[in-house]
Amino acid sequence: MYEELTRILPVHTLRFNEPMSNHTSFKIGGPADIVVLPESIGDIQKVLFFAREKGIPLFIMGFGSNLLVRDKGVRGIVIKIGNCLNDFKVEDNEIYAEAGIRLSYLAKKAAENSLSGLEFAEGIPGSLGGAVFMNAGAYGGEMKDILKEVHAVSPDGEMKTFLKNEMRLSYRYSIFQDNGYIILGAKMQLKKGNKEQILVCMREFAARRREKQPLNMPSAGSIFKRPEGYYVGPMLEKLGLKGYRIGGAEVSDKHAGFIVNAGGATCEDVLQLIDYIKSKVREVYNVELEPEIKIIGEE
Ligand SMILES: Cc1cc2nc3c(=O)[nH]c(=O)nc-3n(C[C@H](O)[C@H](O)[C@H](O)COP(=O)(O)OP(=O)(O)OC[C@H]3O[C@@H](n4cnc5c(N)ncnc54)[C@H](O)[C@@H]3O)c2cc1C
Repeated sequence: MYEELTRILPVHTLRFNEPMSNHTSFKIGGPADIVVLPESIGDIQKVLFFAREKGIPLFIMGFGSNLLVRDKGVRGIVIKIGNCLNDFKVEDNEIYAEAGIRLSYLAKKAAENSLSGLEFAEGIPGSLGGAVFMNAGAYGGEMKDILKEVHAVSPDGEMKTFLKNEMRLSYRYSIFQDNGYIILGAKMQLKKGNKEQILVCMREFAARRREKQPLNMPSAGSIFKRPEGYYVGPMLEKLGLKGYRIGGAEVSDKHAGFIVNAGGATCEDVLQLIDYIKSKVREVYNVELEPEIKIIGEE
C-alpha cells in the first residue's frame, strides 16, 4: 500500500506505521498504518480514489483535539487535514477558510479585521473542519451561529456545497457525522464590530479557560456531552470523582468534566475510567452520559 501511495503522492506527505499519540491532544493512540498529510484538495481526492479502488478504510482528522484513539491503532489510511489546508480570505463581513486552519487563529484574524462572531472560538484547539463536524461551541456561541456554507467532497469524490439549513447543526452535531463527506472549507458570515471590544471579549474567554481548565495536561476537552438539565463537571465533583485515577487516566482535579493523561495513559485506561464514571452517574443520578469525544481505532 505504501509503495503504491508513493507513486501518487510526495513521500514527505506520508507517514508509515505512525503513532497516533503524536497526532492527538490526549497523546494517546497506537499506530496508524498510514497517515497522509495532504498539501492540496487534489491530494485528498487522489487518496479517496486510491482507498475506494483498493477497499482500504479511510479516516479523516483535523488536529486530533476531540479524539481518543485505541491502543491497537488505526487500520487503513488517516488523512490529517489539520495544518495542511490553511488558506483563508476575508471579503466584507465574510471569511472563507480551508478546513485545516486552526479555529483559534481564524478567530484572531476575524478580530484583526474588526469582525465579530468568532470570539467564542478563542481557545478551542481544533481545525475549522473539526469545528464544523462537531458544531463546536463555547461561552454561548457555536459554529451554527456563523456558518453560511460548507464545501465538502463525498466518499465517491463528488464535490458539494452544503447550505446552512442542509447541515442539521445542533448541540455538538452536524450532518457530516452521518454522511461521510470530507469538509474542505467553509464560509462564515460575521458582523462588523469594534476591534478592541472583540479582543477584550476574547481575552476574557481565554482567561476563563486558563482559570477553569487543565490546559497544562494532555486531554481531549470535555469527555461527555452535557445531559439535559445538568452540568457534567459539578455532577462528577459532587460524586467525589475529582482526581479519581485508573492507570494514567485521571479525572482532572481542576475541571471534573475533563479526563487528563496524567502520564503514560493508555486508551484502555481512559475507556475504563469513562465506564466507571458512567456507572456512578447512572447509579446516583439515573442519567446516561454520552461521550462527546470520538473514539476510533481497532478494538
Ligand atoms: C483543552 C481543550 C478544550 C476544548 N474546548 C472545547 C470547547 O470549548 N468547545 C468545543 O466544542 N470543543 C472543545 N474541545 C474539543 C475540540 O477542540 C473540538 O471538538 C474541535 O472542534 C475538534 O477539532 P479537530 O480539528 O481537533 O478535530 P479532530 O479531533 O481531529 O476530529 C474530530 C471529529 O471531526 C472529524 N473531522 C475533523 N476534520 C474533518 C474534516 N475536515 N472533514 C470531515 N470530518 C472531519 C473527525 O473525523 C472526528 O470524528 C476542546 C478540546 C481540548 C483538548
